[in-house]
Amino acid sequence: MADMSRFLKNLHGASILGINPPVFDFTFFDLWAKPLGLLFLLDFLRRRGNSVSLIDCIAEGAEGPLPWGRSRICKGEIKKPAPFRNIPRRYHHFGLNDEAFLRRLRGQETPDYILVTSGMTYWYEGVFRTIELLRQVFPAVPVILGGTYARLCPGHALLSGADFIQTEPLDFDFTAPALDLYSDPGYALLLSSTGCPLHCDYCASKSLFPVFRQRPLNEVLQDLRLQMKCGRIQNGVFYDDALLYRKKERFYPLCKMLKKEFPDLAWHTPNGLSVREIDQECANVLMRTGFQTLRLSLESIDPSLLGRSSFKATADEFLRALECLKRAGFDSSRIETYILAGLPGQKASSVAETIDFVIEAGGRPKLAVFSPVPGTLSFEEAAAALPALRTEPLLGNKTAYSSYISGNLSPEEVQFLKDRTKINKANQGK
Ligand code: SF4
Repeated sequence: MADMSRFLKNLHGASILGINPPVFDFTFFDLWAKPLGLLFLLDFLRRRGNSVSLIDCIAEGAEGPLPWGRSRICKGEIKKPAPFRNIPRRYHHFGLNDEAFLRRLRGQETPDYILVTSGMTYWYEGVFRTIELLRQVFPAVPVILGGTYARLCPGHALLSGADFIQTEPLDFDFTAPALDLYSDPGYALLLSSTGCPLHCDYCASKSLFPVFRQRPLNEVLQDLRLQMKCGRIQNGVFYDDALLYRKKERFYPLCKMLKKEFPDLAWHTPNGLSVREIDQECANVLMRTGFQTLRLSLESIDPSLLGRSSFKATADEFLRALECLKRAGFDSSRIETYILAGLPGQKASSVAETIDFVIEAGGRPKLAVFSPVPGTLSFEEAAAALPALRTEPLLGNKTAYSSYISGNLSPEEVQFLKDRTKINKANQGK
């Protein structure tokens, strides 16, 4: 559809069903994984006189609570797709299984339109299965596929069976995510900005949000007020890529408002915070506002890799940030530091050096294994060596790509690096 934004803006009086598909992968952890874009869109559509409903196959597949409002998601082992045939790991369907999903669909009135969202590009199998099952129950209802996979792999998404694919960012003023569509949302979701002012080689933020935009703070606060009416909510999660950008004009005033109005909420930043922005004042603000778990974006201290990460943090800046956070009262167990492993050309010894550096500084390393994301420079580099990446998104799977497909790191090296983060953590506790 040429202009998806215009089509959706013109919808009135329609009934719309939103779907967050299950995930097919080797591993999946709930890192506060709600489909924020879909929820914003459903709220937008209902404000324009449409009726909306939601089936979130991940949230509805929760089988037990995890700390800070998250959930353990049920899984069932499934047959590996052909590209993973020789990978000695189990493959799973995470979230509602087919029978449960069909039951949910059969309990719904026939909608006028169905919106299916999508996440990682290598999760497209869950999307395809969802659309296949939707066709069984609602064969005549138009299906619109959007989300990250659809935006980054629009050509491949044509194979999904959807009637329309969203290929451009939606041009709307969003108000608040439709959190009330969950019976027990667990946490509030805040987005004070979209996109990122930086442009790292391996990140698709610029492709997904070509322009970095910051929302007016009163809108962000109003958004939270609405969400807080949706049940017993004790946690809040920021989904921003650049939360601390212009922190004195934006983040500090926002934190002051949050603290005043919602003093008991525990805050989390699953997307990494910019290390360079964390000085003593910033650390104190984070502590005072009630941030409970933090993730820091370091990626690597290897000077040869800094350029690929937009020179966003040096080793010295990391040490300073960690020191400030500890002085502000943060327990190091609540601060995890992202370390990237498996970039084309990156050696295991370089990753190990960064792990050791973070541990010696008293931090907790969190390994982020590289996966090539379409629309990034790193993807082009990876696809030059493995052209099949352009036609088969599964090959970019984070468990499969570095360890078994690209040869950037062997499975033994990845395991060695993972163990290194754990062994050292154990030693730290002694
Ligand atoms: S700083 Fe983070 S969000 Fe921004 S481009 Fe780099 S990796 Fe992406």
